[in-house]
Amino acid sequence: MKEYDVVIAGSGPSGAAAAKGLVNGRLSVLVLEKKKLPRYKICSGIIFRKSQDITGKYFGEIPKSAYVTPELLKGVRFWSDSDSYKDYPFTKDGSGAPNVWRSEYDYWLVRNSGAEIKDSSALIDFSDTGDYVLLKVHDVLNDEVIDIRCKYLISAEGGKSVIRAKLDPEFEKGLKWFVAYQNYYEGSSSLDPDFYHGFLEPQYGEVYAWFSVKNGMQVFGTAVAKGKKIKPYLLRFTELLEKKFDLKRGRLVRRSGCLGNNMCPEGKFYLGKNNILLVGEAAGFLNAFGEGISCALSTGLFAAEAISEGIKSNNKALELYTELTKRERRETTASWRLGARLAGRDLMPV
Ligand SMILES: Cc1cc2nc3c(=O)[nH]c(=O)nc-3n(C[C@H](O)[C@H](O)[C@H](O)COP(=O)(O)OP(=O)(O)OC[C@H]3O[C@@H](n4cnc5c(N)ncnc54)[C@H](O)[C@@H]3O)c2cc1C
Repeated sequence: MKEYDVVIAGSGPSGAAAAKGLVNGRLSVLVLEKKKLPRYKICSGIIFRKSQDITGKYFGEIPKSAYVTPELLKGVRFWSDSDSYKDYPFTKDGSGAPNVWRSEYDYWLVRNSGAEIKDSSALIDFSDTGDYVLLKVHDVLNDEVIDIRCKYLISAEGGKSVIRAKLDPEFEKGLKWFVAYQNYYEGSSSLDPDFYHGFLEPQYGEVYAWFSVKNGMQVFGTAVAKGKKIKPYLLRFTELLEKKFDLKRGRLVRRSGCLGNNMCPEGKFYLGKNNILLVGEAAGFLNAFGEGISCALSTGLFAAEAISEGIKSNNKALELYTELTKRERRETTASWRLGARLAGRDLMPV
């Protein structure tokens, strides 16, 4: 059976940052990714200032291959109705924020971590003996289950986490879920492509509705509570884009969706148990309006620091991780309060 100091489930930014920190601390690390890499991730792909800083410091310059056009976005344009908007620049100096494909950015991050990577491999079960964690991993290509052993396990699985659900089924039962949906069309519109556009009127989405341009594609979507019909919101939003902003839809290139939950706005973080830590969205780190790369990167690095220290100091990793993430937790919850003030309403009504 293969054995590692740390196994990380998930190769998004939180998993990649945890891997980078742990490899820097000279630990043996395996990253498991259930999908084939590079994998598609539903996202607007905007690298905010804090994400840029962490990326630059730990991974270097984002490769040109990850960028789409327009390469830099000036800011967010929030529409309070179809005629009125306010701009929020991404940077003070006007330089803007990188506009990337997540498949390329994420794959570059995780390859740059120096950890061993096993894609098409889903963590499906685990047991914690106290001394080590035994993992059951589904090798999707060969359709077989393999056993792996590690001292520490990190869940970097995103909003839906097998690990969190097994560690605390009661916590999981209490979660409320949202569905996000995003379309990619060839076409054109009169909306300024140098901005990311947010539409705050609740008729277009219970959280909000968004629009941006990526390599000429018109990318737009919305989100509502799970169980509600999303189609009427999407139809109203599409109609608004067509009537007010001259959206012309050509070929539908991609349609995608995902689930998110109410951990973030309610400050219900789940940081782990014993030698198992959760990072990024799996732990509840996601800022208002869906900005989550910065806190995924920072919490991944905090978990790496906590484990590197924990290995030296009597397995106090979770305690240290809880301490290290204090500010990030405060900032995440504050961002949702600020977002609600800006939108004039609760952004995740459940
Ligand atoms: C529509 C939309 C737009 C967004 N736009 C932005 C934006 O512009 N900027 C921004 O900063 N944030 C944005 N976000 C948020 C951002 O995408 C997430 O917060 C961020 O990706 C979280 O990173 P993560 O590493 O925690 O998880 P993820 O990036 O979700 O990565 C989790 C990975 O784990 C894998 N995985 C899951 N379970 C297992 C398992 N059991 N075994 C193995 N692998 C597993 C998944 O396949 C996935 O690759 C957006 C989100 C949405 C939904």
